[in-house]
Amino acid sequence: MVDAVGMRCRSCRGDAGDVVLDLGRQPAWDRMPWRDEPLPDPDFLLRMWCCRSCGLSQLCSDADASDELFGVEPRSVAEQSDRSIARLDAEGLVLPGATVAEFGSPHGESWLGRLSDAGMVTAAGRTADLVVDFYGLLHDADQDAALRARTASLAPGGTLAVQMLTLGTVLSLRQWFDLRHGHYAYWSLPTLDAALRRHGLGVHRAWRYPLSGGTILLTANRDPRPDAATLRLIDEERTVGVDDVGALCALQGAAESNAAALRGWLVSEREAGRTVAAYGAASRSVPVVSHAGLDSGLLSVVGDASPAKQGRRMPGTDIPIVTPGELVDSRPDRVLLFLPELADEVRETVPGIEAAGGRWVLLDPSLRVLEPALML
Ligand SMILES: [Zn+2]
Repeated sequence: MVDAVGMRCRSCRGDAGDVVLDLGRQPAWDRMPWRDEPLPDPDFLLRMWCCRSCGLSQLCSDADASDELFGVEPRSVAEQSDRSIARLDAEGLVLPGATVAEFGSPHGESWLGRLSDAGMVTAAGRTADLVVDFYGLLHDADQDAALRARTASLAPGGTLAVQMLTLGTVLSLRQWFDLRHGHYAYWSLPTLDAALRRHGLGVHRAWRYPLSGGTILLTANRDPRPDAATLRLIDEERTVGVDDVGALCALQGAAESNAAALRGWLVSEREAGRTVAAYGAASRSVPVVSHAGLDSGLLSVVGDASPAKQGRRMPGTDIPIVTPGELVDSRPDRVLLFLPELADEVRETVPGIEAAGGRWVLLDPSLRVLEPALML
């Protein structure tokens, strides 16, 4: 097992740990070069390290800072935000006149609009009754400071609500490509509960939703009384092996076999005379393209709806990013969909692929061809 010299836990400051996933050198996913910018792009080590003291799986070292291009928020993400806020409302946490503060994501998503529509008041500079963290936490390089800041923002009796992709999902579905530069912490429910307790909070309730394979919404407070369903969720994650270095190493095997299978499939499609394109120049796509060593000879173009990404190319390779219209015009036989949860949305918004006889193929993370829906 590889040790990472000089690594200190971003949460408990422990210095003993193990590299459980090593994706080698990768370009920064959030720096999409212009199409005519010459290769190679700068690359950086991409490794996940698991702390032996507190069990937090975390990013070893980061890429250089870069300018992120905002993507288009998928419908499935917005729908989950609606569900999460409805859930918090049902728990009696979305109260008109009560104060709210947000630790948001640098990618631009926010719940403040929805919460102020519900009558909540932004706690400018004051502690808040409800502190929401919508994909904020994982972006902090110093997790201990991040948890301290969230705890300090809570009014007496206040609740912290966190929506996150949990390590339990990453591990049980072998979603090795969720390891990314700029995403420092891969919390599981049991590990986060233990870390929150060091700051005087604890997980009170948790719910799992299907987004991204398994997304957790949790509430934490200073007097946590988890119910049976919450304790079961925490236990389920432990059973998957989120705090077991041996179990976590399965991610490495998945990365190698998925990348080899994808490359092998693309080679056989090319030999069969079929062109393959892809859809979604998202953060998740970059480690897949990079680890599988793909170029435009295997994957012709990547379609994406975000105007900011058009005219650019995928990091680390010559594959151009094009508009959905240009993707359809190139008449690919197969379109690889990097984000399986986009399937319903893209079949509806980009019907030209199937209309021209093409097929969508999900990377889920193994490959699955979608048969066209019957026309009634
Ligand atoms: Zn630690």
